[in-house]
Amino acid sequence: MELEPVSPTAKAPAANFTGDVYVNPLHPPREPSRLIASLVRFTPGARTNWHSHALGQTLHCIDGVGLVGTRDGSVIRMRPGDTVWTPPGEEHWHGATEGNVMCHYALLEGTAAGDGTTWLEPVTEEQYRAADEA
Ligand code: MN
Repeated sequence: MELEPVSPTAKAPAANFTGDVYVNPLHPPREPSRLIASLVRFTPGARTNWHSHALGQTLHCIDGVGLVGTRDGSVIRMRPGDTVWTPPGEEHWHGATEGNVMCHYALLEGTAAGDGTTWLEPVTEEQYRAADEA
């Protein structure tokens, strides 16, 4: 076994996120495992762009209050201890509420081509507000 070095916190790229989001990688893809695990911290109002994962994704909330939204307008309000699964290819976004931070573990499997995430357009203020008020 190995005690892993503490990973540096990286700012999530503005190309794929709105607001301030910080990521600590916990398990980069490491053959033969395809697990990719990260701790992601969203500041109030911050969220991902719309996106999908080739092999799906598990989110597990550990702090704050968060939102996960899909194209049909469904919204799940995530609280500590909640786990949300987004199936392969389902377009969605996740982030903090306007009033709280939100921290989650993000677990997914990479593909031969990379992390399997397809990034799309930002979540608009209107979409975000509708989700936060749902
Ligand atoms: Mn996702």
